[in-house]
Amino acid sequence: PPKRLEGIDKNVWVEFVQLVLDTKAVNLGQGFPDFFPPDYVTKGLVDAAQNSGPLTNQYTRGFGHPRLIAAISKVYNKFLGRELDPAKEVLITVGAYGSLFCSMMGLVEHGDEVIIIEPYFDCYEPMVKMAGGTPVFIPLRLRDSGSNVLSSADFYLDPAELASKFTSKTKAIVVNTPNNPLGKVYRREELQMIADLCIKHDVVCLSDEVYEHMTYNDAEHIRIATLPGMWERTITIGSAGKTFSVTGWKLGWSIGPSYLLKHLQTVHQNCIYTCPTPIQEAVARGFELEFNRINSEECYFKALAEELKPKRDNMARILTEVGFKPVIPEGGYFMLAEISNMKVDLSSEDPDQPYDYKFVKWMTKNKGLATIPNSAFYSADHKPLAEKFIRFCFIKEDSTLAQAEKIIKDWK
Ligand code: PMP
Ligand code: GLN
Repeated sequence: PPKRLEGIDKNVWVEFVQLVLDTKAVNLGQGFPDFFPPDYVTKGLVDAAQNSGPLTNQYTRGFGHPRLIAAISKVYNKFLGRELDPAKEVLITVGAYGSLFCSMMGLVEHGDEVIIIEPYFDCYEPMVKMAGGTPVFIPLRLRDSGSNVLSSADFYLDPAELASKFTSKTKAIVVNTPNNPLGKVYRREELQMIADLCIKHDVVCLSDEVYEHMTYNDAEHIRIATLPGMWERTITIGSAGKTFSVTGWKLGWSIGPSYLLKHLQTVHQNCIYTCPTPIQEAVARGFELEFNRINSEECYFKALAEELKPKRDNMARILTEVGFKPVIPEGGYFMLAEISNMKVDLSSEDPDQPYDYKFVKWMTKNKGLATIPNSAFYSADHKPLAEKFIRFCFIKEDSTLAQAEKIIKDWK
């Protein structure tokens, strides 16, 4: 293989999605809802294909379907507090993955360093490497809050440690809020600290905000692009898969200043060229509809979080019952849980892997409950910090969570 692919052939999703297919376990692993999106969303796709003229089934504008970039701009004008130029400041991609890939390939030069905060969505690391860059990792540290219930807010960025990661080679930092897998929602002071360093060292911020609408209690999603001096250096990334509960539609977007975004466009036009038109048409309709009710409780951006909060609380209760120690997430739809109290015999598993990998494989095969190992979201050197946690996905039907509860209750 070419050198740029060395060491990145193994992939957590390939491995653990297959394990679920093989075992038919109750699936709290890979992140996706097991229920329908709002009715108007699926109907919109059918209607787009059948009733909005034959051209909706043909190629559309490469950097984004005109109706979609217009609709996205209207929504994000409000979120970002500025007037976007839809043609130059929005790029539609194949999922948030596509946005991340175009960002790395479009902005990172050979030898550049990219700072990645751990835990991180796993693809950041191989994407930096494929672009010829070097990932530089900084783990969130766990503070003792004095409470015996862990919260994602107990994980923090150490200011001195973060500052020490910025060098003359740093090109970019990736920030993911709300975070996958932890559920941390960065507070304004934390984002300001990151922003100050980006400005001081002339660094670009790739802000992965795919869970932007899923925050709980008092946690507020803050967009780093809205901090003073940050619009000019931030690419904000979103996903229709997360926003409308249609992960299989694989549509995402990058928003940023045109002098940066044009390089993402160059990558996109030469590998994807254009995303599926009916999907873009349907997502455009979705944004138009939600924009018109954006301040009401019915707006799906709010309604989904309302639906998820009791599932989160239920998940935490179920896990606590048997001795898992959950980390209550402030956002997103995942929950980490500590597994040290779970006494299991893992001698049947290949010893040559992190503890959490062994635990998840054992549990999937022997208990019929699938999850994802937390150390998949850490660099090789830092996996020991991570391997006593596993990740549960709770955007599931209550009946699915009840099946998981039964498995867990029968554990002993
Ligand atoms: N970023 C994060 C943090 C994610 O959890 C996901 C989930 N798949 C993605 C990016 C990719 O999103 P998409 O499915 O839209 O490519
Ligand atoms: N974002 C989802 C998760 O974290 C799916 C990732 C994937 O399948 N590559 O589970």
